[in-house]
Amino acid sequence: MTKFIFITGGVVSSLGKGVASASIGCLLEARGLRIDVRKLDPYLNVDPGTMSPFQHGECFVTNDGAETDLDLGHYERFTSTHMTRANNWTAGRIYLSVIEKERRGDYLGKTIQTIPHVTDEIKAAILADTTGPSAPDVMIVEIGGTIGDIESLPFLEAIRQMRLELGPQQTFFVHLSYVPYIASAGELKTKPTQASVRDLRNIGITPDALLCRANWPLSPDLRSKISLFTNVPSNAVFSAQDVPSIYRIPLIFKDQGLDQLIIDNLQLQGQAATVTDLDTWQEALHRIEQPTGDQIQIAIVGKYVELKDSYKSLTEALIHSAAASNLHLDIDWVEAEHLTNDHVTLQRLGPADGILVPGGFGSRGTEGIMNAIAYARELNTPYLGICYGLQLACIEFARTICEIENCNSSEIEANTPNPIICKLQDLINVEQLGGTMRLGAYPCRLTPGSLAAQIYNSLEISERHRHRYEFNPAYKEKLAAAGLRFTGVSPDTGLIEMIELPSHPWFVACQFHPELKSRLLQPSPLFNGFVQAAHKHYNERLSTQEAKQRPAPSPQPPPVVEAPPQIALQES
Ligand code: GLN
Repeated sequence: MTKFIFITGGVVSSLGKGVASASIGCLLEARGLRIDVRKLDPYLNVDPGTMSPFQHGECFVTNDGAETDLDLGHYERFTSTHMTRANNWTAGRIYLSVIEKERRGDYLGKTIQTIPHVTDEIKAAILADTTGPSAPDVMIVEIGGTIGDIESLPFLEAIRQMRLELGPQQTFFVHLSYVPYIASAGELKTKPTQASVRDLRNIGITPDALLCRANWPLSPDLRSKISLFTNVPSNAVFSAQDVPSIYRIPLIFKDQGLDQLIIDNLQLQGQAATVTDLDTWQEALHRIEQPTGDQIQIAIVGKYVELKDSYKSLTEALIHSAAASNLHLDIDWVEAEHLTNDHVTLQRLGPADGILVPGGFGSRGTEGIMNAIAYARELNTPYLGICYGLQLACIEFARTICEIENCNSSEIEANTPNPIICKLQDLINVEQLGGTMRLGAYPCRLTPGSLAAQIYNSLEISERHRHRYEFNPAYKEKLAAAGLRFTGVSPDTGLIEMIELPSHPWFVACQFHPELKSRLLQPSPLFNGFVQAAHKHYNERLSTQEAKQRPAPSPQPPPVVEAPPQIALQES
């Protein structure tokens, strides 16, 4: 029988509810339990695929081609689960399903209402696949948004009903709240958390545990105070203090006994292991927090660099691979539009040991990106191009080396005379934007003897995709004759999946998104290869004046952020 953990958030957004949910998943797996994680988002888009990365951060793509919330990336990175379409529901998707049923006449003349029709649909989404032999022991359900939002009410009502129907031994409510530090008073303040729990109670939900996000660990006195005012037992009030690496959070919760509390409350003692096995996790975390190797600098050249959440999986994949090689990682975010000419590009990218161009859409910044690609190609700097990074590398090569004039992607210039990159054949007459890209995992066949085959140590791989355009095969011969190697091809469609430059130390680009499959304990082979190539480049440059003059790696922050001694951590 599957047990359910519901996670809500209060006071403000961006407290890290996704990472908290993923961390609980990580802990319960470390106790030998089989888990799954679902995200319910209260917004009305059917999925986040049509939203700008500036609005909602990265769109995470699953193996089965669903465009989902970026928190699903955290769930995969922290656990062994494989997310699918069934793991992310939005209010838009719930309402669409209800309205489609109404149109079909499924409700047999009834008036359709939020309660019970919308709430029943939500409960069905939560309960799907929780019976039968492959059902998880625990289903973790994260409710997006913040308590007090109008949109999230049907979701909260649905989980309230589930507590009533299933009882306290099958459901567990976790509330993530905020305990701000007020500098003028020198105190951590508990009032917002008290108010947030009160709001939750008003809608009929009593939290079984509180995760209190704060700059510092909560003192026992503060925990008791929160307990007194919220009626949550003090052993169920947990500190969720700021930490240098998100991968430390499962350990913070473990040290405070969160996994044991959940196991006791949900009566999972029979299924759970008595010890929490996080040894390999801890070793990897140590290499993130205190790597003993050199510091490499990776420049990420993109157009959404102001909002780091737009490139969440990418950043995490770099962190995983740097940890695997025991290296300090310094990411330099470069706004593509700033790379207006060769001189600026040289200045800006000079310190980089590797250049990464991630996925992107539209024309803004593409000329700057191509300046960065030309720089990497000409100055032998390791280059990893992802999706748009492959397409723009092909255009740069065609323009500069093959001297094909006026060539472009038809995404950037609809009537370009030389569309090196053109719309996927299957999408030629498709105007609708939502869910119409080439999405999800597809196989890719690698050329024997290629760098790609060496990196993956395999000739057949599977990676996830999210694109509408492809390399135009009409130009393949010309580019190949000039030295570009097409080393990855889709066995089903013949689409170009990977390119590389044999004349360059490490110039590789892919049509897929390898960052989406990278996990802390299973980093992406392509990112591993790129990070190692950047480290080699770093070492080669050490002999030159330029590298010697570089600043030494900045000292790593201590693993736990301690409170400054002079401040009181309690309210008076
Ligand atoms: N805009 C390009 C396309 O749709 C690249 C997409 C991407 O980088 N994810 O094909």
